[in-house]
Amino acid sequence: MVDLQGQFEEIKEEVLNSFEEILDSTQFINGPHVGRFSEDLKKYLGAKHLIPCANGTDALQIALMALDLKPGDEVITTPFTFVSTAEVIALLGLKPVFVDIQEDSFNIDPALIEEKITKRSKVIIPVHLFGQSADMEAIMAIAEKYGLFVVEDNAQAIGSNYRFADGREIKTGNIGHIGTTSFFPSKNLGCYGDGGAVSTNSEELAERLMSIANHGSTRRYYHDRVGVNSRLDTLQAAVLAAKLPRLDAYNQARREAARRYDDLFDGMNGVLLPYRSPQSFHVFHQYTLKFSHGRDEVKAALDAVGIPSGIYYPVPLHLQKAYQHCGYHAGDFPISERMSEMVLSLPMHTCLTEEQQNFIGETVNEAVNKTVSNYH
Ligand SMILES: *Cc1c(COP(=O)(O)O)cnc(C)c1O
Repeated sequence: MVDLQGQFEEIKEEVLNSFEEILDSTQFINGPHVGRFSEDLKKYLGAKHLIPCANGTDALQIALMALDLKPGDEVITTPFTFVSTAEVIALLGLKPVFVDIQEDSFNIDPALIEEKITKRSKVIIPVHLFGQSADMEAIMAIAEKYGLFVVEDNAQAIGSNYRFADGREIKTGNIGHIGTTSFFPSKNLGCYGDGGAVSTNSEELAERLMSIANHGSTRRYYHDRVGVNSRLDTLQAAVLAAKLPRLDAYNQARREAARRYDDLFDGMNGVLLPYRSPQSFHVFHQYTLKFSHGRDEVKAALDAVGIPSGIYYPVPLHLQKAYQHCGYHAGDFPISERMSEMVLSLPMHTCLTEEQQNFIGETVNEAVNKTVSNYH
């Protein structure tokens, strides 16, 4: 699904030089590379404050902890996402309130948010799924109307942006009150282990976020609040520092690979290409096709010739065993449920060759033709 080797070859010398420097200096915790990378990423996003942390799940948890919520407060989010988003809500004793997605973008449908708002609603977490921004204009307007916080889960869309009706273009992660991201190796900006970050334009939130990530402390051995231990590793910061200047080129390579896939799949019977929102710059964390039927047969055909593919996500969160206590049932979020049966993501990375893509295209085409003839 991803090719980490190809990228490594390009940055090998830089990374190994930094590693040697770090190992020689023994500054393993919060070494200078962490500060430098954080500063660079802050500038890239256009944010006023950036706090690095240990992973994207921690980033979400730290963000929610900074909002001074009370147990039972409600957090509105999508059921069609990676589990982290709902996990941190549950861990903090908050209540996940799911809202179904838009069929084209796979992102939370703003038209369905207002009916879910109660006196206990405090936060909306839009997830910019697969590399494309949620409808932030509508989401920010609802948040403002009801006095809610917006925490953007930007783990899959770093480098993407959203264009508002007035022409302002803002990077995803820098639109809501807090943005969170992950540097898991397969993400668009990935390190060689775990990593994450939280950003904000609010001085007050920044102070809280920083303290929470550091045991609730701003002065050593004095703890003002309950926090966590969540740091970006110095070695990982060095990897990210080498990759960040290349992020836009990486995303461009993903977009070009996506366009080549489009050419291969356009017009194929029962196959829908990934939608591009006119408001967002799609950075293709995933290239996800929708199959009106025969998705599993196509996946089996790809498996049979050694082509990896992924179903993101096979079970929407409201139907997961761990979240049964939330009281949702099959049928509650029909679009998420249907999408989980239709989607298939293909290999997507910055080193995909035309030859590889042609082979993938032919394999899918053959499988589709076979399932179509079975249906007739
Ligand atoms: C990857 C991911 C996360 C979690 O990131 P980790 O660094 O693995 O903890 C959270 N949300 C979404 C949408 C993700 O894709």
